[in-house]
Amino acid sequence: MIILIMGPQGSGKGSVAERLAHDAGYVHISTGDLLRAEIRTGSALGKSIEKVIDKGGLVSDGLIMRLLKKHLSATALKKGVLLDGFPRDKEQARALDKEFSVDCVIALIIPDSIAVARISNRVQCTKCGEIYGTNIKPKRSGVCDKCGGRLTQREDDTPAAVRKRLATYHKETELLLAMYKKIVHRIDATADLQTVVDDVERAIKRCRTSA
Ligand code: AMP
Repeated sequence: MIILIMGPQGSGKGSVAERLAHDAGYVHISTGDLLRAEIRTGSALGKSIEKVIDKGGLVSDGLIMRLLKKHLSATALKKGVLLDGFPRDKEQARALDKEFSVDCVIALIIPDSIAVARISNRVQCTKCGEIYGTNIKPKRSGVCDKCGGRLTQREDDTPAAVRKRLATYHKETELLLAMYKKIVHRIDATADLQTVVDDVERAIKRCRTSA
């Protein structure tokens, strides 16, 4: 089963998917995390990805599809995959639909103003990639609870890069909700994390029963 978790930056896609993976056994695959993991290896590929991401641009479709296929294993699909950050536009949706079937689409709805405020509070571990923000705060400021790594703001979380990413979301990604309209569930993402997680889980159950 493939469940798309869609929503603008700051809507909590990553936090919701992480919580569901932990509590309900789904497999969370975030294309942003896969790309940042490649950057952390220090490879030449990682360096070219870093240049694109830091400017708030999009990485090439071919590369993303390659990374993704490596992770969409039969075991993961059996558990149920929460796909976060992909597809971002019609071309990527077509590429995905060619090889896999999407069973459920969750659209997290949030006004831009709240998304921007949340992102300005967001910090990420430089070592393991764990994210902290308004909902989840580290026990010690600036230090990752999981691995003790240093927490910093992501380069692409600057106001200019965030505005660019939100504009791209509204222009390119939102169109996909019409494409998947029969299986889209819209969820209010301004509520607290656990309420959003519960609403998303209920929506996934509805997808499962109507499949
Ligand atoms: P995210 O963590 O989802 O906000 O992604 C961070 C950055 O990774 C994005 O701003 C893009 O530069 C890149 N990225 C993530 N997913 C994709 C994708 N599906 N297609 C192209 N670029 C992507």
